[in-house]
Amino acid sequence: MIYQQKGIMIRQTNYSESSRIITILNEEGVIVPLMARGFNKTKSPFIVLRQGFKEALFTYSRFKGMGTLNEVDVISQFKGINNDFDVFAYGSYIMEFVTRILSDEDVTPKNFELLMKCFRLLENKEENEKNAVTALAAIKLMPQYGIEINVDECALCGSKDYNTFSHYSFMYHSVICDYCANEETLARSVNIGNRSIYLAAYMKNVKLDLINSVKTSPENGRALLNFIEMIYDEYAGVYFKARKLVNDLQRRRRSDV
Ligand SMILES: [Zn+2]
Repeated sequence: MIYQQKGIMIRQTNYSESSRIITILNEEGVIVPLMARGFNKTKSPFIVLRQGFKEALFTYSRFKGMGTLNEVDVISQFKGINNDFDVFAYGSYIMEFVTRILSDEDVTPKNFELLMKCFRLLENKEENEKNAVTALAAIKLMPQYGIEINVDECALCGSKDYNTFSHYSFMYHSVICDYCANEETLARSVNIGNRSIYLAAYMKNVKLDLINSVKTSPENGRALLNFIEMIYDEYAGVYFKARKLVNDLQRRRRSDV
């Protein structure tokens, strides 16, 4: 059977001197391993896949198990991501968030859609803040990681007044409003800041299709991503390799100022 599908390469491994096995996530959310013969040759037709993230149209034949890659036509070059070391690190981080929960059992096109959406936002880096874009990916993936954040109402009084939210409690697993905050209720809580909680709630509740830009200051974006990383640490305990790279870049940036 011949398939032609949009997708992105998520892994690659050398198979022989000339060939590689690549794994793509296709638009339906299926993980497809493909033999790419001649991948490592100088005049390989798959040369476009050698570096960076590319959204592409993959033509392949497959019956069961591993397929054979026939053709690759690039749809998005993602030059804004691939040619910028910093942005590429964030792209890798988002990629890791998505690929970590992929499985053959839970197939959904929304993982591919989310990845492409975040890459398009990241690509347009003048308009969108990279920490906040990464946080968006992480927030939208939370249900799949078994995480639920309660950023919409105070755990103690039920208030939905966003202006009064600044603390997130790991005891109540929720935001706590400023009126309910005291020494006792704030045990095991973190002052996240009003802006980050607002952004987290917005990203959690808004439909992905409706997000066309992620505009915020780098400071607010960073604060939001810090909060989301704290949530992942507490509730999912997953380690992401790209996180260290991203955090190192941030630290260097700060010491440059
Ligand atoms: Zn309250």
